[in-house]
Formats: sequence, C-alpha cells, structure tokens
Amino acid sequence: MDGVQTQTLRQGLDDASGLAILRNVSLRPWRPRMIGTSCHDVIVIGTGPAGAMAAYELGKQGIRTLLIEKATLPRDKPCGGGLTAKVLDLLPFDLDAVIEQTIRQVELRWRLGKPVLRGGERVLVGMVQRARFDALLVDKALGTGSVTLMDDTALEALHQDPGRVEVRTSRGTFVARMVIGADGANGQSARLLGALRTRHLMPAIEADIAIEAGELERWQNRLQLDIGTLRGAYGWVFPKGDRLNVGVGAICGAGTRGSDLRAYAKRHRLHTVGATARTLRQVGFVLPLRQPGEQIEWGRVLLAGDAAGLVEAFTGEGIYWALRSGLIAAASVSTRLTVGGPPAYEAAIDRELMPDLLAARRWAHIYLWWPRICHVLPARSRRVWQGVEHLLNGKRRFSELSARLGPLAPLAERIPATLK
Ligand SMILES: Cc1cc2nc3c(=O)[nH]c(=O)nc-3n(C[C@H](O)[C@H](O)[C@H](O)COP(=O)(O)OP(=O)(O)OC[C@H]3O[C@@H](n4cnc5c(N)ncnc54)[C@H](O)[C@@H]3O)c2cc1C
Repeated sequence: MDGVQTQTLRQGLDDASGLAILRNVSLRPWRPRMIGTSCHDVIVIGTGPAGAMAAYELGKQGIRTLLIEKATLPRDKPCGGGLTAKVLDLLPFDLDAVIEQTIRQVELRWRLGKPVLRGGERVLVGMVQRARFDALLVDKALGTGSVTLMDDTALEALHQDPGRVEVRTSRGTFVARMVIGADGANGQSARLLGALRTRHLMPAIEADIAIEAGELERWQNRLQLDIGTLRGAYGWVFPKGDRLNVGVGAICGAGTRGSDLRAYAKRHRLHTVGATARTLRQVGFVLPLRQPGEQIEWGRVLLAGDAAGLVEAFTGEGIYWALRSGLIAAASVSTRLTVGGPPAYEAAIDRELMPDLLAARRWAHIYLWWPRICHVLPARSRRVWQGVEHLLNGKRRFSELSARLGPLAPLAERIPATLK
C-alpha cells in the first residue's frame, strides 16, 4: 500500500475547515509498477460507498484488491448526503469526523405550505458531505493493508477469459480473478455489460446554498421535506455545517418533464431559502432502479450499488443499499476465491435486498396516486410517524409493511413493483 496516499486522505479528513480544503488536497499519483502483467485477486471499480465498502471488506480478509477511481480523490458526488440511522448502525467504524449534523426532527410540508414538525430525541439521519464521507471509507479500505488505490484512472473496457478478467483503463490494463463494478448510476461497467438499457432512472436536481451564521440555529438538528407540489416529486432541505443542500427529485422518470422538475426546483428553493440566497453549486443527476430479474452478475464480473440500480424508490435512499451490496459482493467474491462454487451474488441480492426495494416501489405508487395521504398520515398520526422512524433506523422493513395491513394486504401486493 502507498503510505503517502493514506496519510494525505487522513490530513484532508482531519481538517475541520471542510470541503474547500478537501478539494485542494491532491493525492500523489500512484504509479502502477507492472502495467499489463500485475494480477490482483479482485479489481473494484469506483470509490463510492459500494466500491469502498467492498474493498474494505475484501482487504480485511487479506484479499489483494485494486481500487480504481476515475476522479481525483477526494471527489464530490451529487447527493443529499443523508445517512439514515440504519447506515450509522451498519458501519463498523466511528463516523464522528464526517457527520456534520445529526437530525432528530423533520419538518413535513404539503405543497410548500406551513411545516408540521415531527420527531424528538432519537437520531434519525446523520448529514455528511460526500467528499469527506467517501474519503473516510476509502481510507478505511487502504488501512487494511491489502487494498491499493489508483485514482485518476477510468475504466474503459472489460474482457473475460476463463479464470481471469482483463480491465482496460485510461492508465493501462490490469488483470484480476474477479471484478466488482461499483462505478455509479452512469458507470462504464454497467454500460459495457449492457445493463443500462433497461434501467428506470429517477431524475433529481440539487444545490448547495450558503447560509448566514444567524440562520444556522433555525436548521439545527432538523431537515425539511415537501410533497404534493409536483406529481410524483418531492423536495428536501438537508443542513450541513455552513450550507444547506436543497433539492428535488421525481419518482417517475419518463413521466416527469424536465422543465416541470426545473420549475419545481426553482420554486422550492425560493420558498425554502429565499431569492437572495447564494448558490454554491447546482447539479442534476439520476437515481437508477434495477428491474426485477435484471442481470447484475456475469461470470467473474458483478455490479454493486448504483451500478446495479439498487436505490430505494420511495425515499431515494441509495447509500445504505450501496453499502449492503458492497458487503454482499465482497462476501460472494471471497467465497468464490477461497472455496469455489458457482456465481451466487445475484441470487443473494435478490434474496436479501430486492424484496425491500420492490416493496418500496409499491409504496412509491401510493405517493404517486394519493400524495395527500403520505403527508397527512405521518403529520397527524403518532403511530404512522413511529413507523417512518422505524424504517429509517432499520427496525422495520418495507417488505413487512403490507403484512401489517391485515385484510388489505393482498391488495397491497397487487400494486406494481415497477415504476414508469
Ligand atoms: C441528487 C441526489 C441526492 C441523493 N441523496 C441521497 C441521500 O441523501 N441519501 C442517500 O442514501 N442516497 C442519496 N442519493 C443516492 C446516492 O447518492 C447513491 O445511491 C450512492 O452514491 C451510490 O453509491 P455507489 O457507490 O453505488 O456509487 P457512487 O457514489 O456514484 O460512486 C461511483 C464512483 O465510481 C466512479 N466512476 C464512475 N465512472 C468510472 C469509471 N469509468 N472508472 C472508474 N471509476 C468510475 C465515480 O467517480 C464515483 O466515485 C442521492 C442521489 C442523488 C442523485
């Protein structure tokens, strides 16, 4: 492992002055010594939560892993950066260095009207900036001693031979026994494998807005959600240190016109931060949904996280599912390298993650058809709000919800699990 890299990432994380400093941290380029001939056990493509988590887990087991990243690290990623309480429980290390706010209260708005406050003492969400959070995960992977990082290196092509995979990148060709593609929603690995053709994409627009010191108190420990303003869309305000992440996203891909979503983004921002607020950055991106049964494993190559379309459609949460799929990918790869046996990753994802992801899409239809219910119930019913909290902290799963409807359960099961 290159000690210089690890140290530089740590310096960036330890610096309390945040993203601006992180952006100025440049990692010394890692020079591969044996381009074209070096054989790794595993190559992981992408250093988001899915790739970094998979590399960390493989590294812990002493599996020689090469982690390839297109961007120069640390890099930012369009994302609200909300880690639900179940993510905080899942990660085996301390996140204090990167959590900027812990959210205990949620303001619920209907059509940008007067907010209703819910929540109390329990931590529901931890807010992070992705550059810092992802850098921490990469740092943990490098810390295992078995993971090597090459940033500034983009995947270009994949070629499978019996027993090995060749990975062509912008900085040479590398060989591994197995490959995990974790390069995100627009990633090259899913594109090369033809997996993007059937993906449902949920569009989102977000902006970082500077907030004045006097306003910080107003957003202390609380976030805001707006629903009902645009059909099938929702808006959020997520506070981070010195800025607010303000965004809108839509459940329907083709069903939402880009111009409508842009108009909603503008209106939402006006109603939440006012006309004079300073926009630091604005970006549009997509959240991908895997169709039921869609292939995500090809012999020695498998896809994880957004590259596999593993986003939860109802809330747009992707980080938890990226981490989970990274862990499942690592376990599956490790078994195949040590014990052998047939590919089992896709089956494990279908068994462990897809039931909840598909159930969430059914509930997303309720939001599409009767959005008012999705505001009124959590805003007025203590029991329903408690259910929401349990979904955030992992005590309850989407796949268990319909069973709680009693005689209406079979009806809920008939709601489509695919979105258009
Ligand atoms: C606007 C918006 C807001 C969101 N808010 C939240 C939220 O608040 N909470 C939440 O849980 N989820 C949120 N999500 C979803 C979340 O961001 C993703 O689900 C999550 O980042 C997926 O992680 P990943 O590791 O699969 O991919 P990514 O985080 O996208 O990481 C992929 C990595 O691969 C690299 N890469 C890309 N192409 C190549 C290549 N050719 N070669 C090598 N490397 C490559 C990229 O640079 C990147 O580092 C949001 C998404 C959007 C768009």
